[in-house]
Amino acid sequence: MKVNISEIKNIHGAVLDFAGQQELTITEEKLGFQVINPIHVKGRVTNAATFYIVEIGLNFKYRGQCSRCLSDFEKKGKININVQFSENPLENEAEVVYKFSGDELDITEAIREYIWLEFPIKLLCKTDCQGIGLRHKEDLVEPTNSQFEKLRGLFQEERGVNNGKSNE
Ligand SMILES: [Zn+2]
Repeated sequence: MKVNISEIKNIHGAVLDFAGQQELTITEEKLGFQVINPIHVKGRVTNAATFYIVEIGLNFKYRGQCSRCLSDFEKKGKININVQFSENPLENEAEVVYKFSGDELDITEAIREYIWLEFPIKLLCKTDCQGIGLRHKEDLVEPTNSQFEKLRGLFQEERGVNNGKSNE
């Protein structure tokens, strides 16, 4: 995605808002990680005289496989990026500065790099996923047990089970 900055080009302090969509192929086959297009992009460029400050908010969906319970899931991702663009970046710059020329900032690579940087090494379907063992226990064992107790209770009531207590 490219942002045309011609209207703020020679005005120190001028600000330009932009929005759009970015299509990118970002996958990690081993982890089952895949960004679902399009990526929704919103941002702001500020002319800081010798460089441009670009703030970008990304909203997208991604697929992955949970590293704990191994289920496939689809989740929303949100990333905020703050980068600089310069026509003449200095060598040994402390900040990450992307080079550009002309009236357009191409933010595609910044988006790609930051999604890679931010995406977790261990994917989780939810932050408190308990993994296979506990999911199994909660989903299967406990409900079955309590339902069995209820059923047994009903059964005993109906039959008026002979357990030594009088049953009126
Ligand atoms: Zn999980």
